[in-house]
Amino acid sequence: MFIESFKVESPNVKYTENEIHSVYDYETTELVHENRNGTYQWIVKPKTVKYEFKTDTRVPKLGVMLVGWGGNNGSSLTGGVIANREGISWATKDKVQQANYFGSLTQASSIRVGSYHGEEIYAPFKSLLPMVNPDDIVFGGWDINDMNLADAMARAKVFDIDLQKQLRPYMEHMVPLPGIYDPDFIAANQGERANNVIKGTKKEQVQQVIEDIREFKEKNKVDKVVVLWTANTERYSNVIVGLNDTMESLLASLEKNEEEISPSTLYAIACILENVPFINGSPQNTFVPGLIDLAIKRNSLIGGDDFKSGQTKMKSVLVDFLVGAGIKPTSIVSYNHLGNNDGMNLSAPQTFRSKEISKSNVVDDMVASNGILYEPGEHPDHVVVIKYVPYVGDSKRAMDEYTSEIFMGGRNTIVLHNTCEDSLLAAPIILDLVLLAELSTRIQLKADWEGKFHSFHPVATILSYLTKAPLVPPDTPVVNALSKQRAMLENILRACVGLAPENNMILEYK
Ligand code: NAD
Repeated sequence: MFIESFKVESPNVKYTENEIHSVYDYETTELVHENRNGTYQWIVKPKTVKYEFKTDTRVPKLGVMLVGWGGNNGSSLTGGVIANREGISWATKDKVQQANYFGSLTQASSIRVGSYHGEEIYAPFKSLLPMVNPDDIVFGGWDINDMNLADAMARAKVFDIDLQKQLRPYMEHMVPLPGIYDPDFIAANQGERANNVIKGTKKEQVQQVIEDIREFKEKNKVDKVVVLWTANTERYSNVIVGLNDTMESLLASLEKNEEEISPSTLYAIACILENVPFINGSPQNTFVPGLIDLAIKRNSLIGGDDFKSGQTKMKSVLVDFLVGAGIKPTSIVSYNHLGNNDGMNLSAPQTFRSKEISKSNVVDDMVASNGILYEPGEHPDHVVVIKYVPYVGDSKRAMDEYTSEIFMGGRNTIVLHNTCEDSLLAAPIILDLVLLAELSTRIQLKADWEGKFHSFHPVATILSYLTKAPLVPPDTPVVNALSKQRAMLENILRACVGLAPENNMILEYK
């Protein structure tokens, strides 16, 4: 059965006018490796830590500024949200299609809240805590191309034509602000697009972005802004001691107009200085160590990297399943071809390299979790190929071959072929990223040994379900397995309303 909403009644949870306050027992383990009677042993001790969570329930009016607003993702998300808000439906060759938010964890997935008379009861994911309604988001942003969003939607060739016609009046007055352009960081084939750029030194460009954010906030009367990079994939920046390795070196390099600071890092600097959350949806290393240092010192949220939309999402499910089943993947080969502007940009070796890196580590945690299957340091062969094929447009093809060793030397080969509009996978993920980033800035927590409440760490691991190469604070484990990432997010939100983690034991019926 499905219910729309619920309220938790518990001595550990207090609802006040502007806040939900919960006291929560975090059940975990403490490990020690000790010499006991002459041999070293691992001792595992269950441990309970008391936490308190405070969630501000006042939902702000949210502005979302996209870097690369006029791209396929930017125009598809903007059009999709307008279509939902306006209740638009359109004729396809199959049926009359209604706007929806399918593919969004927050808007279209559910959580289990318990059993009632022998029936499992589910509620919308978004009913856990008060979140911004996507229909109420005000969109804006930057693009190095000056095309308005209606024309950009037509250029993207993602939406059905009948839908495009209905959306056009809402989108033709939406024009991206000039963006920061540096031809050294994206493919040369993007040069023609760059007719809408911010001039000046790098420091002046950062200043302009700060002014743009302030003006947008003022003009649209929004309480909060989240900025998200959905512009072209850049090449990796070189990380150099004294240039971008610390906050001080990065800010000094900005003063000196150093060449090696990428446009994405410049936008991120502006956001951190404005205390505006910044999320990176592409694979490049926007978050150089100096930038992470700056975000931590300013306590300003950053999250990334690279939307986990298609092939990698499947990989982080399938390899988790195989390794979890005691089966040993030995070779994973992934081919992609796509024909949109993202594909054209990725046809240059330097930008492809960024994507290759971000796709490469996604099975590491699963492999490392099973020492029965893998020797220390052993790893499956893992190859990723991306080709640009204009004809297929945004309809990306992903082909994967997984070869595994099974019982008694047997071989198991699984082949997947996935065809899908890339931007229709990415757009709901962008939505989740901005909604969850906003929500996480309203949550405060404290362990019993901590004196006062604090926000989550500014490097937002809570967003990792949505990203291909989750950015984590120094010395923090990276989790790629999709089910663990989802459980982490859901269970943290459950803790905020005093609900135990979903343990799937269903002891009531045992
Ligand atoms: P796109 O090429 O259609 O859009 C990118 C837009 O960014 C373009 O309009 C371009 O003019 C603009 N741009 C480039 N550099 C800019 C800058 N410095 N400042 C402002 N604007 C700039 O690409 P897309 O299909 O929308 O994808 C966007 C990004 O998302 C790509 O990097 C892609 O790799 C990443 N991504 C997409 C998916 C997916 O499923 N669609 C998944 C993971 C990552």
